[in-house]
Amino acid sequence: MAMDYSKVRDWILREDSFDVSHLGKCEAVMSLGNGYMGLRSATEEKYLGETRDLLVNGTFNKFDKNEVTELPNAADVTAIELWIDDERFSLDQGTHSGYSRELNIKTGELTRTVQWTAKNGKSILFESKRIVSLTRLHDIAIKISVTAGSDLSLKIRSGINARVTNTGSQHFSEVEKRFYDRKYMQFVEQTTQSKVGFVINSVHRFLKNGEPIDLPTDVNIEHRLVFADYEVGLKAGECFTIEKFSNVNTTRDADTAGLDLPAIQEKSLLDLQKSETLGYDALAAESAAAWKEQVWEKAPIEIEGDKKSEFDLFAVRFAQYQMRIFVPAHDNRMNIGAKGLSGEGYKGHCFWDTEIFLLPYYIFTDPDTARKLVEYRYLSLPGAHRKARENGYKGAMFPWESAWLDDGETCPLYMGTDILTGRPIKVWSGIIEQHISADVAFGVWQYGIITEDKDFMERCGYELIMDTATFWASRLEQGVDGLYHINDVVGPDEYHEHVNDNAFTNYMAKWNMKKAVAYADMLKTENPALFASLDRKLNIAENFPKWSDGADNIFLPQPTADNILPMDDRFMDGEFIDLSKYKAQDFVAGIMKDYNLDQIQHIQVCKQADCLVLFYLLEDQFAPEVKRASWDYYIERTLHDSSLSLSTHSVMAADMGDEEMAYDLFQKSCAIDLGPYMGTSDAGIHAASFGGIWQCVIYGFGGVRMLDGKLRIEPRLPANWNKLSYTLYWKGEKLAVTVTKDDVEIQNLTGNKQVELTVRGKTVVI
Ligand code: BGC
Repeated sequence: MAMDYSKVRDWILREDSFDVSHLGKCEAVMSLGNGYMGLRSATEEKYLGETRDLLVNGTFNKFDKNEVTELPNAADVTAIELWIDDERFSLDQGTHSGYSRELNIKTGELTRTVQWTAKNGKSILFESKRIVSLTRLHDIAIKISVTAGSDLSLKIRSGINARVTNTGSQHFSEVEKRFYDRKYMQFVEQTTQSKVGFVINSVHRFLKNGEPIDLPTDVNIEHRLVFADYEVGLKAGECFTIEKFSNVNTTRDADTAGLDLPAIQEKSLLDLQKSETLGYDALAAESAAAWKEQVWEKAPIEIEGDKKSEFDLFAVRFAQYQMRIFVPAHDNRMNIGAKGLSGEGYKGHCFWDTEIFLLPYYIFTDPDTARKLVEYRYLSLPGAHRKARENGYKGAMFPWESAWLDDGETCPLYMGTDILTGRPIKVWSGIIEQHISADVAFGVWQYGIITEDKDFMERCGYELIMDTATFWASRLEQGVDGLYHINDVVGPDEYHEHVNDNAFTNYMAKWNMKKAVAYADMLKTENPALFASLDRKLNIAENFPKWSDGADNIFLPQPTADNILPMDDRFMDGEFIDLSKYKAQDFVAGIMKDYNLDQIQHIQVCKQADCLVLFYLLEDQFAPEVKRASWDYYIERTLHDSSLSLSTHSVMAADMGDEEMAYDLFQKSCAIDLGPYMGTSDAGIHAASFGGIWQCVIYGFGGVRMLDGKLRIEPRLPANWNKLSYTLYWKGEKLAVTVTKDDVEIQNLTGNKQVELTVRGKTVVI
């Protein structure tokens, strides 16, 4: 099996042959979704080793007191089994040719075609199509066509299968299973702990040679299963079509708030009938139109260049596709899971991945969706307060892993097994990876500045920045040098635990406290009423001096004589070992097979970019020679064992003017999910890396950055690109930017007000 890029000009990702040992790859990278739900693209026929996932955002459930909450895998509607003269349609038996599976990212439609001959000599042409509607958030539609190669009998089994788990954890109790009119199937289940009710409906429609026909239905209701059997005889050349319409609704949905489970059951059946009446083609056309309007017209990107650049353009559009299917644009009570909605990895939890890697894309291209993501953090403040209290701190200490609003910390305490001791490995991130609080504040600040969303800042933004500053002020420890230190943390590089004064954490904490001081000062004079209400809530009078003292007197690691910024108090004293073996591996975390984490602590090896992330978040605080020397030092020691790493390095390389290196790293970023390694996406795609790919193109090669509240465009195209164009929202205006090797053209598409920005060092007004 291989990924085929021959159709990238047509926006198509293709799998050109079938290999049952690589099912996970296409299931994940070709998954469908609309932010409400994500549907892994398992094939209609079943195979050993497949993973069928239907994940509805925000429906977290805790299976057991020893497990953390996760997105439960809802009942499956995608399995449709066929028998040709009693032989099961399966590509691991009989023979097949002309196999192709395609994801069209322009329309969000998945198609598959194969010519199959059974062992009994009967043959069919199998074609399937599938969408998760972008307009009807609850709808999944499937269309299968079987063209008979010879006279044959076709048996079909299709239904709703709730015998699915999350790697063994069964999150649901059965509530009700029904057939209405021997036609409409309904399965109702409820999560065991969070008590979220799920209603899943399916109905089939059949056509023979394009004409609707009714088939006798053999109805079946079993434990966690509702399905029907159908049978039809076909003559050679005849085409039989199955259309299956399904919808998924839950008691957590905002659009049916106030309805109880029976009311949702009733309403969802009526909705299903409407979709059935429209038919697959109309639903698919309607959804494709929404893709055009919501994504491709809203945030168009074009790259012109050599043949290779066609893949580059596809890769960034593929990132846009993914960033649409996993973002809950419809609901601010949920966020983006590290694997999107394409698999069970990281349990649907969100991380700093949102603010640092993904949020910039939404802020610049879809501010309404960006607002939902930052509002989520505001709504999850109760959990952040609880975490601070439980750890003996004040203010808002955001969870490293976040799920439902009031869950607080959801990072598992243990994961994996130590290769030397055989004991479970403790995950310290949930306890001491604390930079997340400053990352949240940074995301909020970026959102506020770039969108000028005054309403959000007044309702939530200033409060979030001040409340996180209060956390930092309470977190600081005074050292013998009289300065404040932040001891015993994990920085972004998770290969080093219990470090003191991680540069990323300290610089970001300082930034956070400084911003709180600046906003408090500003509000006191410009908006005394808001200041007074925030003061009542956050006790600004008492906290302001602490923020200010903390910001002024926090210890900040300084560059060495060789201009290298030490990432913490001990990394540079570690042992330098030959990492070439691990760098050459086509899988991540290979070093963990040779060393346990206790040993890795004492080795100069980074899982991912750490203080380098600072260099572009707080770009103006570091001299070019410090960036260069640190880059040279850390890249030699970095394994990129996190998907967040390569894109950061690419943007940094572009910033330093090393376009060749930037391009090489960009291509490697694209390969994380789109590359030739078939095992990399089994647990789900890498959401943050899609934000990273967009940043490589727009921030790195496009040279876009918001610095100190101002927009800067400093493009550096890779050698094989001649032209890059994209749009950006900036303070409510939509700008169209076209970059060529020696020119930058900017047009204000909205034209409501003048926009001032810096282009290649010169201030211009558009
Ligand atoms: C990385 C984190 C990241 C998480 C989720 C980890 O492997 O080290 O930085 O937030 O994955 O993507």
